[in-house]
Amino acid sequence: MTPDLFGRHRAVLPDWLALYYEDPLEITHGEGRHVWDAAGNKYLDFFGGILTTMTAHALPEVAKAVGEQAGRILHSSTLYLNRPMVELAERVACLSGIPDARVFFTTSGTEANDTALLLATAYRRSNTILAMRNSYHGRSFSAVGVTGNRGWSPTSLSPLQTLYVHGGVRTRGPYAHLDDREFTDACVDDLKDLLGHTRAPAALIAEPVQGVGGFTSPPDGLYAAFREVLHERGILWIADEVQTGWGRTGEHFWGWQAHGQNGPPDIVTFAKGIGNGMSVGGVVARAEIMNCLDANSISTFGGTQVTMAAGLANLAYLLEHDLQGNARRVGGLLLERLRSVAARVPHVREVRGRGLMIGVELTRPGTDEAAPEAASAVLEEARAGGLLIGKGGGHDTSALRIAPPMSLTVAEAEEGAAILERALRSV
Ligand code: PMP
Repeated sequence: MTPDLFGRHRAVLPDWLALYYEDPLEITHGEGRHVWDAAGNKYLDFFGGILTTMTAHALPEVAKAVGEQAGRILHSSTLYLNRPMVELAERVACLSGIPDARVFFTTSGTEANDTALLLATAYRRSNTILAMRNSYHGRSFSAVGVTGNRGWSPTSLSPLQTLYVHGGVRTRGPYAHLDDREFTDACVDDLKDLLGHTRAPAALIAEPVQGVGGFTSPPDGLYAAFREVLHERGILWIADEVQTGWGRTGEHFWGWQAHGQNGPPDIVTFAKGIGNGMSVGGVVARAEIMNCLDANSISTFGGTQVTMAAGLANLAYLLEHDLQGNARRVGGLLLERLRSVAARVPHVREVRGRGLMIGVELTRPGTDEAAPEAASAVLEEARAGGLLIGKGGGHDTSALRIAPPMSLTVAEAEEGAAILERALRSV
C-alpha cells in the first residue's frame, strides 16, 4: 500500500515491532466504527475497540475536550494540583468497586501493571508472583516477566520469580475435557499445589478474559475461588482490566465481576481505550496498598491534563450512551450470528466471547490442530473485503479476535459478520 513508508519503517524501527498484513496498513483517519487508509480505502473496524478506540473513532466530544484543554495548556506537572486528574480519579475510584480506592495514572497498560507489581511486591515484601499460563501483561521487564504467553516473552530475564497457574485457557491443555465445575476444581488444586511448594507470593495477576491469548474466558467464578485461597494466605489479587474494563464484556462493567462473588480484587489495572486513543493507563487499589510505598513517587506524563480531559469526555460518553448495554446487546447478536456461520465452516472450532470481545478459534478441518496460517489468511481476506479484525492465541496464534468500538450498530455487526463469513469460506 505504502511501500516507501514500509521500507523506511523496516530500516529504522525494531524487527520485533509486530505489523499486521503482508502489505501493512497506514491508517490516516477514522470516524465512528470506520477507518480509512492512505490510499483512501474504507474499512469497518472490528479490532480498534481494544487497541485504542473504545467508543468511536474521532468522537466529537473527545476531540472538543482535547482541543479545549490543548488550547489552555497540555500539561503543567503532577507536582501541581491537576483538576482533570482529580476528577477522573474520583470517577474511576467510584466505578472501581474497590473500597477506599486510590488511583494512580500512567501512560500505558505496561506501566500500569509495572506499578501494580511494584505495589504488591512492596506491600507483601516478596518478589514471587503468580500469573496465568498464556497471559499477556505488557512489555517492560516486570510485565514481560509475568507474561505466560511464550510468543511474547521468550527473552525475558525478569528478576521476579513467576509461577504459572492453569485456568486462563480452556480450548487446549490437560483440563480441556472437563466441565466448568471440574475445571475450576482442577485449577484450584493446581494453585494450592503450587502454593504448597513456594514461599509467600505477593500476588496473582490475571486477565479476566485473556486478550492477546485469544479472548478465552475461564468459567465464571474461577477467580472468586482463587481469591478465597489467596486471601487465606494474605496473597493479593491483581485484575488486569486493560482489555476487559469499562463494560466491554457486556454483562459487567469490569471483567472481574464475573468472578466477584467473594469481593473485588485488591488492585485493578486499566489502559488502552479509556483515553479513546490518548495514552491513559492506571492502577486502582485499596488505600492501604496504594500508600505502602514510603518514598515520594511521580509520573511526569501519567495524568497529563490533556489525556485526563480525553478520559473524562470518553467515560462520560460511554456512561451516558450506555455502551455497556450496547456491548451486551450488539455483542450478543454478533456472537449468535458468528456461531451460525461457524456451523457452516469446517475449520472453525469454537466461537466464544463476552459482549464485544469475541474470539473465533480455527483448527485444521477435522482435527484438533491449531491453524495459524488460516488465521493469517482470514485476516488478509477480511481486509480485502473491507473489514479489520485481530488475531491471537497461544504460541500458535490461531484465534481471530473481534473487538469493535463499543458504539457498534446492529447494521455494522451484520455487515462485518457477512464479510467475515466470506473470508472464512474462501480460506
Ligand atoms: N495488559 C493487557 C491485558 C494487554 O492486552 C496489554 C496490551 N496488549 C497490556 C497489558 C499492555 O498495555 P500497553 O500496550 O498499553 O503497554
